[in-house]
Amino acid sequence: MTQNSVKKLTNKNTGARDWLAVAAFLLIMLFLAYALSMGALNFALFMADFFHAKIWPPMDMVAEQAAIQSPMILEPGPKWVSANKNIIEELLAPQNSFLTKPPVIPQKSFTTITINAVGDCILASDINRAPTDSFEYYIHTLNKPYSYFFANVKEVFATGDINIANCESVFTRYEHARKKNGDRVFWFKSDPNYVNIYVSGGINAVNVANNHTHDFGEKGFEDTLQALAAAGIHSFGYDSIAYMEVKGYIVALLGYCLVGRLQTEQDLKTIAHAIKDDLAQTVKKSDLMIVTFHWGEEYAPEPSAYQEQLARQTIDNGANLLIGHHSHSLQRVDIYRERLIAYSLGNFVYGGSLKPFKETIILRQTFFMDDELRLLDHSIYDLIEAETYSGSGYNNFQPVLGRPSN
Ligand SMILES: [Zn+2]
Repeated sequence: MTQNSVKKLTNKNTGARDWLAVAAFLLIMLFLAYALSMGALNFALFMADFFHAKIWPPMDMVAEQAAIQSPMILEPGPKWVSANKNIIEELLAPQNSFLTKPPVIPQKSFTTITINAVGDCILASDINRAPTDSFEYYIHTLNKPYSYFFANVKEVFATGDINIANCESVFTRYEHARKKNGDRVFWFKSDPNYVNIYVSGGINAVNVANNHTHDFGEKGFEDTLQALAAAGIHSFGYDSIAYMEVKGYIVALLGYCLVGRLQTEQDLKTIAHAIKDDLAQTVKKSDLMIVTFHWGEEYAPEPSAYQEQLARQTIDNGANLLIGHHSHSLQRVDIYRERLIAYSLGNFVYGGSLKPFKETIILRQTFFMDDELRLLDHSIYDLIEAETYSGSGYNNFQPVLGRPSN
């Protein structure tokens, strides 16, 4: 090899190395540009993924840890403006549910008390309805057992400590209907044995403070209380407060019929004051207080401003849960000071109409109680979707779980 050719070869090698360096530089620049365009976070994720580094736990683990570290903060009740037919959608929308914030289960030992509640139950038809269109027809003629009516939902009540309904019919054999004026007036009564419908469904507490339990006067009302008590069902409402013992705790149930009574500012003041007094007495004898209001306008999609104010004042005065009914429509559920206000649960087993609104829910709330007989600031609630009857025909008085399809 001559001196010249060695020089040429050296030059050639040097040139190739330069090109390699330029190519490598360009590649690095391209990679950096790519990384920048992905954004810092994506780039980091990409790198982590690339090297199989497990620096981020799965998302559900993140949620779990957040739940353990941060206390559950409940938003104040949302203000929904809704048509009744869309109420289920809105009740269950994620932003309206505090189930979207995972509840923190207390670390120390605790006892749970689970309450289920449904709205208006009329275990009868109006006395003037044709027998073939009646609630009673299902028992007398179709030979349905008492267990027929709650058959599709009793699995929910099987897991509740207290299962509450609004008992809006009379159990009596007494014939004399109370006088009523108006175009649309109804009287609902059935044989006292019909209380077994509640028993077979697992309902163990009923509110009797409403606008139909006196359809057959004081005699009909007394018969109703007697039939319920004989069946082991706790009744409450008006002056009667039920105290139920659950796992060593006392749960007080109070019921008020406010139909037509909450029309003015003065009504609100008077009623709120009376309830405050009741709660001040009851709190000394109980660990939890549940209040039901039979109130509001029939078929209204929303509660009135007075209802909202009374509900909040009742929570301010110590109620742990507030359950409303009477409107025959499902209304919204608010969370106020971490407590639930269900303005109207709608109908449930409902003999009052052959075409009632189908939308309804079973409201389910679990309270946590600690060893010192104290309510912990922890609760879980669930709005269990149901319809008052299934299919596109007439009411068969048998609610089913699930969202109404039509
Ligand atoms: Zn009513």
